[in-house]
Amino acid sequence: MVQTGLHHVTAFSGPALRNLDFHTRVLGLRLVKKTVNFDDPGTYHLYYGDEAGQPGTILTFFPVEHAAPGRVGIGETQETAFRVPRASIGWWAHRLIEKGVAHEPLVQVFGAPTLRFRDPDGMMLALVGVDADESGWPSAEVPAEHAIRGLHGVTLLLDKAEPTAAILTEVLGLREIGREGSLIRFAGSADVGSFVTIRAVGGFLRGRQGAGSVHHIAFRAADDAAQAAMADRLAGFGLHVTEQRDRQYFRSVYFREPGGVLFEIATDAPGFAVDEPVEALGRALKLPAGLEPHRAEIEAVLPKVA
Ligand code: ZN
Repeated sequence: MVQTGLHHVTAFSGPALRNLDFHTRVLGLRLVKKTVNFDDPGTYHLYYGDEAGQPGTILTFFPVEHAAPGRVGIGETQETAFRVPRASIGWWAHRLIEKGVAHEPLVQVFGAPTLRFRDPDGMMLALVGVDADESGWPSAEVPAEHAIRGLHGVTLLLDKAEPTAAILTEVLGLREIGREGSLIRFAGSADVGSFVTIRAVGGFLRGRQGAGSVHHIAFRAADDAAQAAMADRLAGFGLHVTEQRDRQYFRSVYFREPGGVLFEIATDAPGFAVDEPVEALGRALKLPAGLEPHRAEIEAVLPKVA
């Protein structure tokens, strides 16, 4: 079956080391790729995910050492949520307290226990308890039984829901599955990274991008042909879609959806094992062939992270 839903979420952060420490140590995600922003090679691009960095498990950051904080507003991703086993929510609440990470009281959202907190840059995150069959990846501090099982989904803060909903359902392969208060939830076919929830608020302030802000969210396409078909349908909505860009681990097109959020469509292939074996993911700084001749200069300006 074709897998639809999120491929990855990409955000801005403050200092790289603090970001790495929080997401790998506190949350127990695996660093699956250490590379640079191909559009700005003096900046890291850090990818976190499950053991193999499968689509739907990936959260990535562009860390900037002295970034000003962002402010969430209309036309942005408000919250990024991870899946954890339902029975592990209590363990996580305890862990966040132990690590000095403030969390909001546990709430039920669409029937699922949801624990909201922020990363050190103020990025709004949540853990959502689900019936997860697949096994987790054990990190140094988070045992496999409690480990994060990829992305649950994102919540978009929008002026109105309908124009964005049309893109989700008519182009990106999601379907509406429920409404609750001001929330409308959509789901793709994949088990991991399946959900996009729209919170339509009308007349709220626009956001200001900075540390802790989501820069874009990426949806899955099985291959280049599926991606091209989606781009054609977007053109039918009058939306401008970029040319395909080679991101080394996937191939991407980008467009600004009608609600103002930057969307990407990324191919499942080739994946993160294309330039290093799965066992060694994230250990070495990887550069695309075009930047390899500049490795010494690039390494000289990047902050040391390990
Ligand atoms: Zn991306």
